[in-house]
Amino acid sequence: MDEKFEKLDLRAELLSNLDELGFTSMTPIQAGALPKVLEGGDVIGQAKTGSGKTAAFGLGILNSLDVKNFNTQALILCPTRELAEQVAVELRKLARMMNNIKILTITGGVGYNHQENSLFHGAHIIVGTPGRVAKLIRTEFIWIKDIKAFVLDEADLMLDMGFYDEIMGIEEQLPKKKQTLLFSATFPEEILKLSESVQDNAEKVVVDSQHHEGDIEQYFYLLPSHKVKNSSVLKILGEFNPDRLIIFCKTKLITDNLTSFLKENDIKAACIHGDLDQSERTAVMTKFSNHSLSVLVATDVAARGLDIKDLAAVINYDLPNDPEDYVHRVGRTGRAGKKGKAYSMYVEAEEYKIDQIKSMISEELSIESIDKLVDSKEYIATPPMETIFISGGKRDKLRPGDILGALVKEAHLEPSDVGNISILPILTYVAIKKESVQQAITKLSEGKIKNRNFRVGLA
Ligand code: ADP
Ligand code: MG
Repeated sequence: MDEKFEKLDLRAELLSNLDELGFTSMTPIQAGALPKVLEGGDVIGQAKTGSGKTAAFGLGILNSLDVKNFNTQALILCPTRELAEQVAVELRKLARMMNNIKILTITGGVGYNHQENSLFHGAHIIVGTPGRVAKLIRTEFIWIKDIKAFVLDEADLMLDMGFYDEIMGIEEQLPKKKQTLLFSATFPEEILKLSESVQDNAEKVVVDSQHHEGDIEQYFYLLPSHKVKNSSVLKILGEFNPDRLIIFCKTKLITDNLTSFLKENDIKAACIHGDLDQSERTAVMTKFSNHSLSVLVATDVAARGLDIKDLAAVINYDLPNDPEDYVHRVGRTGRAGKKGKAYSMYVEAEEYKIDQIKSMISEELSIESIDKLVDSKEYIATPPMETIFISGGKRDKLRPGDILGALVKEAHLEPSDVGNISILPILTYVAIKKESVQQAITKLSEGKIKNRNFRVGLA
């Protein structure tokens, strides 16, 4: 099972970088798919979130890249902006020791000017969402004639989101002679159809999609009606006090309503769904990953594939329609040897979904009574950090060291009070231990960072 990267014919820079990253052996999807990707044929791969799919195709792309040619040689399509960002970050990490590799994200929801400018300067690899990529191919800002690799990442989700026509439209314009790689967490009929339309003799690699359900304590609550779901969420939070969790809902409207309800009950919650603009999504996701937000309310589409680890629990406010999505949701908890918890609510009309889940995870499910949980317990888990914003970013040439330096020297914080620093183009978010956040804001507002004044406040 222990398959080493060294046995593959990879560039020396890639191998020494993998070594430095601590990627000691291949994950199962990498061991299955990467050799085939390196051979140059089409591959269709199935593996769950967090299984290392990016490197499974990314190392293949980087290995055959012509570094001197700044025309785009690989196009990777992802369902959402966050997923595209995540893939780009992972690819840059893998490409660290190869000089001057340009990897560009091209996604919707942001202006065209900046993207068109960047494209004008060339990019070896483009990671994007189908709508915006199609548009920029049409307007010839994306130069496709040298594209040798075409990747559909999280393909099932792209189809769920209605991107079939756009994907086909893009595929038709790309050079005929290329390698097409398709990755998907689930394998419904439509995925096979998509594969047949865009791939040629694709070799299939399937990695057991069963999660370690045994590591997850799963509770199911049969409720008399949907109306008691909000109060039931409070009971679950009060009884079990998970310190970091995602609550999955069926629709945007439900996520909005539940989030308002939780806030009215003094719980720090925020939601993500497709209607938020880019800056709102970034703010929410930054706070959730830097531990200044405990409760994230999300739709499947918004949460799928996000690299969020170490959740104490997930709550299924609504059961998903597809039992495989249940497995994916609960698979986000119970990582790294810790036992995760999954709480699912359903009504009588959804009993058939419970049966489907039962056969999917081949386990007896125990149905609990929500009435056994008392109302009066309060949810007391609070996030340890708070996030501040600084009104400057990459364009002001701010670096993590400048921020940390100012927080220690000007604001007199201990380095251990400072958490994750994320520097965006024109804005920076910094996680600060709650006890020190006021001091950080006051002192930084008065003081200077890199000899300049910036606005600082609670994000
Ligand atoms: P997926 O796309 O399947 O959801 P990712 O490609 O985003 O998964 O990888 C998930 C995480 O695992 C990333 O943080 C990545 O750096 C890490 N990872 C990938 N491959 C390896 C490996 N061979 N050894 C250790 N960590 C790995
Ligand atoms: Mg991925």
